[in-house]
Amino acid sequence: MCGIFGITDNKDAAKLAYVGLFTLQHRGQESAGIVSDAGGALRHHAGMGLVSEVFDRDTLDALGGRSAIGHIRYSTTGSSHIKNAQPLVLNSCLGPVAVAHNGNLTNADALKDRLQKSGAIFQSSSDSEVILHLAAKYRGRDLAATLASNLTKLEGAYAFLFMAPGLVIGARDPHGYRPLVLGRLGRSWILSSETCAIDVAGGRLVREIEPGEMVVIKGGRASFRRFAAPARHTRCIFEQVYFARPDSLVAGRTVQTARYEIGARLARELAGLKADIVSGVPDSGTVYALGYSKESGIPYRTVFMRNHYTGRSFIQPDQRLREFTAHLKLAPIKDVIKGKSIVLIDDSLVRGTTSKKIVGSLRRAGAKKVVMAIASPPIIAPCYFGIDTPTRRELIADRMSVEKIRRFIGADALHYLGLESLVDACGGGTDRNFCVSCFTGRYNGLGKGGR
Ligand code: AMP
Repeated sequence: MCGIFGITDNKDAAKLAYVGLFTLQHRGQESAGIVSDAGGALRHHAGMGLVSEVFDRDTLDALGGRSAIGHIRYSTTGSSHIKNAQPLVLNSCLGPVAVAHNGNLTNADALKDRLQKSGAIFQSSSDSEVILHLAAKYRGRDLAATLASNLTKLEGAYAFLFMAPGLVIGARDPHGYRPLVLGRLGRSWILSSETCAIDVAGGRLVREIEPGEMVVIKGGRASFRRFAAPARHTRCIFEQVYFARPDSLVAGRTVQTARYEIGARLARELAGLKADIVSGVPDSGTVYALGYSKESGIPYRTVFMRNHYTGRSFIQPDQRLREFTAHLKLAPIKDVIKGKSIVLIDDSLVRGTTSKKIVGSLRRAGAKKVVMAIASPPIIAPCYFGIDTPTRRELIADRMSVEKIRRFIGADALHYLGLESLVDACGGGTDRNFCVSCFTGRYNGLGKGGR
C-alpha cells in the first residue's frame, strides 16, 4: 500500500504536499518523495524513511513551485530501494513527466518485457514506471490524451498522479480498487489517497474520483474525462479493515464509524459469550472493541500500551525485522489483565505472528481466559492489487483450519467476523461494492497477466 497527495496553484505547494504526506504516513514508511513544478522544470526530492526524515525546511524551500505531487511507499512490487522511491520522473519526448502510484499492476512484467524489447530503458524495478514508457512511445502532444489511451492497457489496481510542467493529472482504475479523492483549498485543487489529508491541509472534500475517470488540472481549472467505462466498482475493503485512518471518509462514512459498527456486529455474532472485559489490539483494534463493548455490555479496558515510535510492525519488508519490532510495540498492562477473561479484538490475522505473540503476552500477564475475535474473515488468498500478502503459503488460514489456528495462537476460543457482516458494516448496509478477493479467492478483473 502507498499514499499519494498532490496540490496545485498554491505558493506553498511543496510544504502542503509535505503536510499531506505526513498525514498519510500510516500508508507506507519505506520512502517518501515530492516533485514540484517550478515553471517549466520539475524539481525532485526523495529519500528512504519517514516523511519527517526525508524532508527539512531547506529541501522544501528548494522544491518551491506552485504545484506538487508526493508519494509515500510501502513496497508490494519492486525492492525497498531508493531507485524505487516515488514520484518517478522521466524525461521523455513529451518533456519531463512524473508519476506517483498507489496499487499494483498485474500485467506490468509482460508490458515491461515488450517495452524493453523495443528499446525502453527502465530506471526502477517498480511496476509503476511502465505507464511512463507507454506514454513516452506516443508522440502526440497532449499528455492527458496520451495517458487516457494508454491507461486502458494496464491491468490491476491503480490510483495515479501525474505531473508535467503546467499540468497535474489524477486517474483511478476502472474497478476503483485504490482510493483517490479530490479536494479544494481556496483556488487550489488537492488529490489525495484519503480525505484525512485534505482535512489536515485545511481543504474541503469535493468528491471521489470515479473508477475509470481522469481529472486534468491545468491553468487553475479541473476537467474530467472517462478513459474507460467503469467496471463493477470494487473498492478494497481492507482500507476500512486496516489501512485507512479512522477520520477518513470511505463509502460515505468515516472509517471510525464503520469499525465501530463492525465491533457491534462481532458482539452480535458472539452473543451470549461471557467475559470480564473486552479490549482491542492498538491502534485499529480499539474502535472495534468499543463497538463490541457498547453492543454486549462487557466493559472496555485498555490491556496493551502501544509504543508509538516503532512504526507498523508488519510494514517492514523482511520477516526478521518484523518479529523484532513486534516485541517492542505492545506492552501488557498487568493489573488490568490479571485473573480476567478477556475478549481481544484485532482487525485481521494474516500470518498469525501478531496474535500468537499477544495471546502469549496476555497469558504471561495472568489472563484467565483469552477469546480472540477478528474483525474480518479468514484471509485465504493473496492480494494482487497492492496489499502486502504476496504468497498463499504465508497465509495461515490457507494452511490451517480455524481450530488449528486457535491452537497455534494459544487462545481459548477464536472467532472471525462473517463476510456478510463485514460488507454490511463497511457499506452502511447499502453499498456492497467491495473487493473481498482475499477472503474468497475470487478475483474481479484480474487480467491475463495476473498471477
Ligand atoms: P499477522 O501478524 O501476520 O497475522 O498480521 C496481522 C497483523 O498485522 C494485524 O495486527 C494487523 O493489524 C496487521 N496487518 C494486517 N494486514 C496488514 C498489511 N497488509 N500491512 C500491514 N499490517 C497489516
